[in-house]
Amino acid sequence: MPEQDEFVNLSKMSFDVTEEQKLILEQVDRACREFRPVEDRYYLEHRVNDQVKPFFAKAHLLGLPVSRKYGDGQGSDMVTYALAVERIGREGTGLRTFFSVHLALGQMTIQHWGNEEQKGRLLPPATRGDAILAFGLTEPSAGSDPASLKTYFEEKGGRYYITGQKMWISLGSTAKYVLVFAYPKGKSTGMCAFIVDSQSSGFRAELIQHKLGLPTADTSTLYLDEVEVAREDLLGPPGKGMSVALSGLMNGRLSVAAGCVGVIQDCLDESVRYASMRFQHGKLIGKHQLVQRHIGLMSTNLEAAKLLLLKAAFVKQKYEEDPMNAELRDITDLACARAKYFAANASFDAANRAVQIFGANGYSLENRPARHLADTRVTMIYEGANEIMEQKLALGSLGSGFEAYS
Ligand SMILES: Cc1cc2nc3c(=O)[nH]c(=O)nc-3n(C[C@H](O)[C@H](O)[C@H](O)COP(=O)(O)OP(=O)(O)OC[C@H]3O[C@@H](n4cnc5c(N)ncnc54)[C@H](O)[C@@H]3O)c2cc1C
Repeated sequence: MPEQDEFVNLSKMSFDVTEEQKLILEQVDRACREFRPVEDRYYLEHRVNDQVKPFFAKAHLLGLPVSRKYGDGQGSDMVTYALAVERIGREGTGLRTFFSVHLALGQMTIQHWGNEEQKGRLLPPATRGDAILAFGLTEPSAGSDPASLKTYFEEKGGRYYITGQKMWISLGSTAKYVLVFAYPKGKSTGMCAFIVDSQSSGFRAELIQHKLGLPTADTSTLYLDEVEVAREDLLGPPGKGMSVALSGLMNGRLSVAAGCVGVIQDCLDESVRYASMRFQHGKLIGKHQLVQRHIGLMSTNLEAAKLLLLKAAFVKQKYEEDPMNAELRDITDLACARAKYFAANASFDAANRAVQIFGANGYSLENRPARHLADTRVTMIYEGANEIMEQKLALGSLGSGFEAYS
């Protein structure tokens, strides 16, 4: 197994917030506070929130992890980015999912794999919110096992034609461009990643209804019928689609972990607020020891999740600076998976405890704990379900001879 200490000198880890980071985080905090009533309204009306894009584009927050060379890119390092997404996560998993998909699965993947022409063409409008990005890997019969996907492409006259169906695609109905993963027709090797324009003929998106949570988030099914893609829109080397997908998922996991830390923070804040004002049996419920137990556990999980997140962000930053380093990539991949796995479970636990502290009021979607409970459940499923994360983390300790899929 890779030796972490070679790359990650923990004595050098510092999470002191610099003046520049402080300014970005204040900007994010202001935008989140201002946006809260809008998200509240859409949530209670059970509608996809179409105000996210214009609002956060105006706040210059749609290009946080992208180099300043491109449009509205803010060039944030990974720790700043993680802290920003954590703050957004406090607002709810629906809003945070928008950022995870557009910024992490979309922009960061293009920034890593794209050539200069693609980055110059796609990232400026993406960072300004003029071209939202989505990530189309999952299919009706290919989820945890993306290698079994059925979407295929044919190459004719120097152009590609893609046919297939993608399911559960966040921002699928909002996106201008979707990263679509497909095999050459008749093959189950040589997967390629394509940047597909959603305005192309043969492309159709349909919102998925009746979800357990995330009512404000666009989750869609995509239908592709011989959708034409130019050669310039192949992302990464031909045949390297799986590597593109896996690196996108690593970006996404860091972002999910950050959002979940935000959820735990919000559940803790809400619980403390409620327990400090609700009286039962002649005293504040916060004075009852069994209620204190929930709060003590939540605060401990918050600290643990945050430290795992910060460590993952710290190593991710090192990897960003040394992207050809395969050992560092593996260490980062594990750190992001571990942070996501822990934070996802802890966020669901925190939401459950917050609902309990609120009692019947916790059962109302008018209050934040109920929304977190419904919404954060998905973090144990998407971007690598819990069981897949467990296998990955076990492999990190057992070594490659224990690969489950060999
Ligand atoms: C709201 C939402 C948004 C999403 N957004 C996107 C998106 O933007 N882009 C995208 O591509 N996908 C997206 N997804 C899809 C998501 O990534 C998949 O749901 C996820 O990968 C799991 O796949 P699956 O649902 O097909 O479950 P399955 O793979 O069918 O798994 C079902 C169960 O079996 C378990 N399982 C499967 N294989 C194994 C194994 N080998 N060992 C042990 N247990 C196993 C799983 O852990 C799970 O518990 C989204 C999903 C949701 C719900």
